[in-house]
Amino acid sequence: MKLNRRRLVWQLYPSYLLLIFSVMLTAGWYLSGELRSFHYRQTADDLRARALLVEPQLQGQLKSIDRELLDLQIKRLGSQSATRITLIRKDGQVLADSDDDAAKMDNHSQRPEVLQALSGQTGKSVRFSNTLGQSLMYVAIPVYEMGALAGCLRTAIPVSDIDATLKGIYLQLILGGLVIAILLAPACWWLSRKLSRPLELMTAGAQRFARGDLDLPLPITGSAETGRLAMAMNQMAVELAERIGREVAQRNETEAILGCMVEGIVAVDNDERVIRLNMAAAELFAVSPHLQPGRPIQEVIRQAELQRFIRQALSQQEPLVEELVMHGPNKRYLHVQATPLTGKVDERIGVLLVLHDLTRLRQLESVRRDFVANVSHELKTPITAISGAVETLLDEDATNDTSQRFLQIILKQNNRLIALVEDLLDLSRIEQEAIQGGCELTIAPLCLVLERARAACETQLQQQQIDLHINCSEQLRARINASLLEQAIINLLTNACKYSEPGAQVIVEATELATQVSISVQDFGCGIEQEHLPRLFERFYRADQARTRNLGGTGLGLAIVKHVAQAQGGEVEVTSTPGVGSIFTILLPKARG
Ligand code: ADP
Repeated sequence: MKLNRRRLVWQLYPSYLLLIFSVMLTAGWYLSGELRSFHYRQTADDLRARALLVEPQLQGQLKSIDRELLDLQIKRLGSQSATRITLIRKDGQVLADSDDDAAKMDNHSQRPEVLQALSGQTGKSVRFSNTLGQSLMYVAIPVYEMGALAGCLRTAIPVSDIDATLKGIYLQLILGGLVIAILLAPACWWLSRKLSRPLELMTAGAQRFARGDLDLPLPITGSAETGRLAMAMNQMAVELAERIGREVAQRNETEAILGCMVEGIVAVDNDERVIRLNMAAAELFAVSPHLQPGRPIQEVIRQAELQRFIRQALSQQEPLVEELVMHGPNKRYLHVQATPLTGKVDERIGVLLVLHDLTRLRQLESVRRDFVANVSHELKTPITAISGAVETLLDEDATNDTSQRFLQIILKQNNRLIALVEDLLDLSRIEQEAIQGGCELTIAPLCLVLERARAACETQLQQQQIDLHINCSEQLRARINASLLEQAIINLLTNACKYSEPGAQVIVEATELATQVSISVQDFGCGIEQEHLPRLFERFYRADQARTRNLGGTGLGLAIVKHVAQAQGGEVEVTSTPGVGSIFTILLPKARG
């Protein structure tokens, strides 16, 4: 920014010059007045002295009848003393005048100086002389003859003579003043520079500091005040340098951390503009990590899903977590976590996205799923063939007890294998459908599903003499995949039978909650220790290894239940108390409309 102000030196210097000129003018004006009145007084005294000198020579002349001689004498005295001399009688008649013909002159009794002299004092006056046609200074003294006032003697000189002398003095004064002013001008300039220089040095130093050059301190010059100012600014520069150093170190640290992070980091402001992104995020979206901040996110990351997620995260105060699929030449799976970004005064300035690339994990999962599905599928044929062969042998060689016993063992283990393979195939199918979004959901009454599940477990229920109660309103409907849900309920019922004592009670209940529909299967069997509950729905997880195997479990039943619930947008929960029983609950979203 350019300030339209005069430099300090150009403010001080003219002020000093103006001050000197005004002091000189005032002093000159006062001095000239004093000088003038002093000179006038001196001249008047001089005229009086001249009159007093001339007066004795004219003693007794006032009554003389030889006017011509008197006139000649006055004219001689006048020219000798370069003064106009006039002799005036008591009645005002001019007896003789050095510069004029007395006979032609009018009565002078009313002239101010004459009036004063005739009253016995020294008369003075400066006025215009009609006789000579110019301004004169008059001094008149009384003249006595025989002790009585006989008239007055007047001396005069032209004012122009006095003024000419004064002019000469004035000229010298002005010249003297000019010389002083000329001599003082450089001194003023030097003084102005001396005052403004430290400030100019400080301004240049402050500008240097502003540019970031904080190493060179300001010189401590000038007055105590400017010296203190320079010291304060130097101190400020030292502290600023320290602070900047700390900030830079901190920024480098943050840069290094962000750069090394495997997770992508994207900070977006409230207007959906990129504040910054780290190397991992730049690589993820194939953009430059050094792109200009402030570019709209829609321009930088062309992924509709992510843009929608950011808009949603910006519209709410709570953190948001979602798994998104990025479409493009390479399909990517991202786990995105959005946290609100707050500014200095706790106001929200945007959101911070942390992106975990799950693509590799998903690929491995897919390979694993395909492998399990393929292996299960391949195993199914030989296992079925073994079953057939063993059953035939059992029928044909019924007499040999030993072979019967071994054949029974083979058949039992083979049946377990069949169950395992079928469960694995079911699990793969459900997972596949859920991933591809192909799980078909329809709004259907729940009690029908529960009844079908009961029918499917009928044999087991009877064998175990289980007393099953189904509590479900006929009107209760939900958006479900009926066959999948039926399978899940069958798994839960099978477990309830397996882990209950014969004759025990099992209650299946379906109820409508605020936003969900809950289907619970409660048994009063052995129950499960708390430590097993968090991992219970994992594949092949068994709470009680020995017991489960004996009961012929595959370890996949609950994993299937969990996947069935998830495929329908729901979840599964368990509460259990050892020795009291367990409650498995499937929670499904409520059907809308
Ligand atoms: P399995 O086919 O072995 O029963 P599941 O996945 O169905 O496999 O069950 C996993 C484990 O959970 C079982 O091994 C068992 O220990 C425990 N479990 C499941 N249901 C019950 C239940 N109703 N009561 C007690 N334990 C149960």
